[in-house]
Amino acid sequence: MNTLLPTSTAGSLPKPSWLAEPEKLWSPWKLKNNELLDGKKDALRVSLQEQKNAGIDIVSDGEQTRQHFVTTFIEHLEGVDFKKRETVKIRDRYNASVPTVVGPVSRPQPVFIEDAKFLRSQTDQPIKWALPGPMTMVDTLYDDHYKSRKDLAWEFAKILNQEAKELEAAGVDIIQFDEPAFNVFFDEVNEWGIACLEKAIEGLNCETVVHICYGYGIKANTEWKETLGSEWRQYEEVFPKLQQSNIDIISLECHNSRVPIELLELVRGKKIMVGAIDVASNRIETPEEVAATLRHALNYVDADKLYPCTNCGMAPLSREVAREKLNALQAGAEIIRLELNK
Ligand SMILES: [Zn+2]
Repeated sequence: MNTLLPTSTAGSLPKPSWLAEPEKLWSPWKLKNNELLDGKKDALRVSLQEQKNAGIDIVSDGEQTRQHFVTTFIEHLEGVDFKKRETVKIRDRYNASVPTVVGPVSRPQPVFIEDAKFLRSQTDQPIKWALPGPMTMVDTLYDDHYKSRKDLAWEFAKILNQEAKELEAAGVDIIQFDEPAFNVFFDEVNEWGIACLEKAIEGLNCETVVHICYGYGIKANTEWKETLGSEWRQYEEVFPKLQQSNIDIISLECHNSRVPIELLELVRGKKIMVGAIDVASNRIETPEEVAATLRHALNYVDADKLYPCTNCGMAPLSREVAREKLNALQAGAEIIRLELNK
């Protein structure tokens, strides 16, 4: 990237109300069959245009073609029975009825490659594509086959590597793995989580990101955040090993969070997508608030490695709020670019 402080989003953006019910996760589609296929493409075009209108530098599909950032990928795999459901605790936080792993997992065909090719055909800007991370995938399932979180994660890492290589061949510039579970299971992250992530990116030439956040702005997450005390030091547990890993970029929640920003010193040398937009509030940040978060981060991240971003996906927000937040992100980044170029 030649742009100074290139902006991007963590991933999802709101869908149009004609495609899915707005301001909701796992919102059911309103269209069917070919109409749904066309509708998803149209929504992707709109989402891309809105990112362009806001001046976002690294654009994405806004996750318009998927219902959920983890489930949609897993739905395309073999070995998981979505009708056989068990209740498990997701990220040690809330109970959910989840599908069961009933046999060896595999990817009979590509999942997102056609969507990525379509996005590529619509823009010459750098594009980023998000996939779920292996540990976060494991955490959304009941495993009745491998009976080992590590073994299942390793199998998912191999599958993700196949998908990632095809995304790269389709022209994706940056591939991101969403690993909110890295903020919860520290021992496992250090024992095998990062190793699985490295398996998922093995042999890739494009840039790679791991996104580690405190979750969407949904009730279960905001209530959990209330229990974390005045300083959120979760990142401290996984940063030293991530710093040593092959991953190029780390995407983090920074704005309005209680993460001590000096923890970024532990990953010095990595590129950092600094979350400067709160996705758990409808209040629109002022450009100066965004700039303040970025300025603070610049004490620990070299300017050529700082990528202004959102804290997490914006799928559960209204389109109006998400649009304004994108504008604020770009305007805040511009303030800092001018300061750095003085
Ligand atoms: Zn996130």
